[in-house]
Amino acid sequence: MNIDTKRLRKNIEALAQIGRDPRGGVTRPSFSQADFEARAWLKDRICEAGLCYRQDGAGNIFGRLGGDGRTVLVGSHLDTVINGGAFDGTIGVLAALECLSRIKEEGLEPTKPLELVSFTDEEGNLVGDFLGSRAFAGFLNKEEVEKGLTTFGRPLKAILEGTEFSLDSILEAHKERPGLEAYLELHIEQGATLEMEGVPIGIVERIAGKIYHQCSFVGQAAHGGTTPLELRHDAFLATADFALRGTQLVATKHYGSMITVGKVAVHPGSFSIVPSKVDFTLDVRSSAGETLQALEGELLKLAEDIASTRGAAFFSRTIDRTEPVALSESITGIMKEECGKLGYSWIPLTSGAGHDAQIVAPLTETGMIFIPCRDGISHSPDEMIDWKDLEKGANLLLQTLLRLAS
Ligand SMILES: [Zn+2]
Repeated sequence: MNIDTKRLRKNIEALAQIGRDPRGGVTRPSFSQADFEARAWLKDRICEAGLCYRQDGAGNIFGRLGGDGRTVLVGSHLDTVINGGAFDGTIGVLAALECLSRIKEEGLEPTKPLELVSFTDEEGNLVGDFLGSRAFAGFLNKEEVEKGLTTFGRPLKAILEGTEFSLDSILEAHKERPGLEAYLELHIEQGATLEMEGVPIGIVERIAGKIYHQCSFVGQAAHGGTTPLELRHDAFLATADFALRGTQLVATKHYGSMITVGKVAVHPGSFSIVPSKVDFTLDVRSSAGETLQALEGELLKLAEDIASTRGAAFFSRTIDRTEPVALSESITGIMKEECGKLGYSWIPLTSGAGHDAQIVAPLTETGMIFIPCRDGISHSPDEMIDWKDLEKGANLLLQTLLRLAS
């Protein structure tokens, strides 16, 4: 039994029309008008496939095949970043729909119930990343949900006005969660390893954890024409020094981990004034918890050292923290066996990007399949896949589901 690639492609292309951005690509953040259109579209597809539709208080959408019992859950997310692509998340939900449709069409009756899921706001346009899967897992922080500001500058509560959802319904969504047997997710790699290796399938063994810090160096403003270099307390040079030496530290001592200084604001930001203050973001990732923690300590110490040599002060606060996750060895084992039977080549991968799978992983056995995306590009209108890779990824998903559900 195989998936119907034509139907899967048709569905992906149809969904890409909902929330089409005039600049190219797709803009479909959760609880936007485009998102509600996409939700209605998905509901129709779920009902058309003869699956049982339901939605929880966080707007996570489900399509169930089978009765009671511990559920094999499979899915991803339909929301996108602003001006994102047509494949990130979407292929996971629609491949899940395709797998369940095929099982239903063949009249198979797996021992365990299967359910597809589309999680709300994986991309973190609202309050923090993974709102829907964290609500599903019961990992939401009440204060963050109530007080956090969305990327649209409005509180979540205001965005929910006029919808069927509320802060309370989101916070209580986890009470509607079924008992879980396993969770599976198919996703684009969002990196270039598979493409470089010329392999269609990545079997994800770990998902990296991350730490976000909001940092500042505070020095002293001075005249750019008259202040001798040795008398300056230049907050920008401290930041540049930190970014460079921090990267060297990771590259030499913790190769494979990641550091990114992604957003920098220089104050006062004038042509001829020595910068007095620089605010910047620090994103640190690693697939091992001990490394992540050690790295955080080493980087903060480096920043303090740089501050003291340059006569500046360093401040930082933690914005977000996610622990690394090891995925289920029994599921990766099944996937490797099924790849062998299907004749697909595969490699093991660590995901540097976060996914709903890492939120669900503490609740149940969890597995993830990656397929290549062109040039490793994602979160962009240029996001593209090879449909043959998707066919393989979805067939592997189908065989893994059947193994887990029987
Ligand atoms: Zn995604």
